[in-house]
Amino acid sequence: MSIDALARPEIVAMKPYSSARKEAPGEGILLNANESPWSLLEDGEPESDLNRYPDPQPPQLVSRLARLYEVAKENVLVTRGSDEGIDLLTRVFCRAGQDAILQCPPTFGMYRIAAQTQGAAVVSVPRWTEEDFKLDQQGIIDAVENDARIKLVFLTSPNNPTGDAIEAGYLPELLEAASGRALVVVDEAYAEFSHSPSAATLIGHFENLVVLRTLSKAWAAAGLRCGAVLAPIPVISLLRRIIAPYPLASPVISLACRMLEQETLERQRRLLSEVAVNKARLLSILDDRPFISDLWPGEANFVLLRTDRADELLTFCAARGVILRGYPADPMLSGCIRVSVGSDRELSALDSALDAWEGAS
Ligand SMILES: *Cc1c(COP(=O)(O)O)cnc(C)c1O
Repeated sequence: MSIDALARPEIVAMKPYSSARKEAPGEGILLNANESPWSLLEDGEPESDLNRYPDPQPPQLVSRLARLYEVAKENVLVTRGSDEGIDLLTRVFCRAGQDAILQCPPTFGMYRIAAQTQGAAVVSVPRWTEEDFKLDQQGIIDAVENDARIKLVFLTSPNNPTGDAIEAGYLPELLEAASGRALVVVDEAYAEFSHSPSAATLIGHFENLVVLRTLSKAWAAAGLRCGAVLAPIPVISLLRRIIAPYPLASPVISLACRMLEQETLERQRRLLSEVAVNKARLLSILDDRPFISDLWPGEANFVLLRTDRADELLTFCAARGVILRGYPADPMLSGCIRVSVGSDRELSALDSALDAWEGAS
């Protein structure tokens, strides 16, 4: 079965919008896009080409991302963060009122938001709360095989907020079971922090695999809003039909290209090892605290813990300027708090706040 058969028929049938920049590359005397011939910024400033529309998929950025993620250029779509990738996939593959996504809570909240925005149903296969939030592997396969509404299966590896990565060997089994029925979307926002291999290595082998990557976490560039969808060509072509004509602003394109230069690559490796060192320190700060009943170190740049009186602890820390993430609205995560790996100074502030809490309680 082709991937087009899984997509919304109106998207497959739609004649894509063709922007001026798509029809003619930005060279020559450009009188085709109703742009201003002048910029209001001084010549020589990096943004002095702001009067021109940016390249929809800048080749230099696409090839740097392809090299980074070890896939072919044709398998890359650059997006405004992975949030945009989630949104595009849901809009292409889910018909309102008919189709569904599958998610495995507790997990990242944007899969549900994208589905509900599109009018798609959300099928949840919860993780095993009594077994360290392990994925219900067979439950996911059963759901995909028995519920024809499911068009997208969202898995997060490592998962937010539980930190666990998908077990080796499971993904090919699920991709096989979902073949002809649904796409499996592996959100690898935290992959760089983990030692598990990227699912991107399987892209040549499965027509229904999509991998989401982002510069927001391990590339220390959440403010840049730049991510990538890695997928087989038929999926990329469908997403290109509905992505905004100019998804990336020119300053974002030039900054992202700079980020991926050799010099920054080396700095990023150092950043990853600093995060690993500080994560060990964070774990030692949390170790042996009598009020922490469970601790999930996970494979990402955060840890999850459980305590009674989580709400009070969050408020207590916030009053000392230390902001942690709680989940008051999620029964699966009752009493849970997620703590990101911070700098030495930030971790010291956390350490003192927890000492004070221990003294006061
Ligand atoms: C932070 C995060 C993202 C990042 O989204 P961007 O839009 O790229 O900033 C994606 N998925 C998960 C699971 C996350 O935790």
